[in-house]
Amino acid sequence: VPEPNIGSSFSWISWFCSIPEKEYFIQVPEAWIEDDFNIQGISLPDYEQALDVILGYDSAEDYDGSPETLYSIIHARYLCTKQGLEIMANRVMEEYYGVCPRWHCGNCAVAPCGVSDDVGVATVKLYCPRCNDIYDPPKASLLIQECNIDGAAFGTTFATFLFETYKSQLVPPLKISNDDTEHRVTRDYGVYTLKVYGFKVNSRSPFGPRTTWLRYKDTNES
Ligand SMILES: [Zn+2]
Repeated sequence: VPEPNIGSSFSWISWFCSIPEKEYFIQVPEAWIEDDFNIQGISLPDYEQALDVILGYDSAEDYDGSPETLYSIIHARYLCTKQGLEIMANRVMEEYYGVCPRWHCGNCAVAPCGVSDDVGVATVKLYCPRCNDIYDPPKASLLIQECNIDGAAFGTTFATFLFETYKSQLVPPLKISNDDTEHRVTRDYGVYTLKVYGFKVNSRSPFGPRTTWLRYKDTNES
């Protein structure tokens, strides 16, 4: 993807978000970034230059990493706004980020999240609201071999806000199968039970379901 020329109507933000491996990002409106209130307290080397690049006042050529780093931080903030949540809710509803790989989650749509709010700690993960667990994005979904999106671009707060705000739309109740052996759902949540010729494996066995308790959610929680 060629970089935009200064002065063209092609903005850095739309260019950046159109790069195939950056398609997890949404476009933050330039007007929102230009409001000092929204970007206060960000300390980065080359902050002013990076901001100029993002807003199209400067060329991206001299500042390799920092416009993306700054945009990631701004992006995480914007996602927690009403507009940001709305855009992301629509994306998640369309399964833009895919579905949980756990079979018991019944193809529940996942949303990107960070394990840290600090840049450079970990790459982006996908959060499933049904099993409350996170997963590495499937490589094919990013059209690259290794994920190079910083988790801080989504942060630790956004997914919580998203699923609190849009819980009924994004986490519909699981359909409970009548066939008990096929898809047993416990507390809105299925846990696979290992069996050998129809008998449950003893929980003390090295292959036993020892982590089942980890999977249970407190029913009083929600
Ligand atoms: Zn899941």
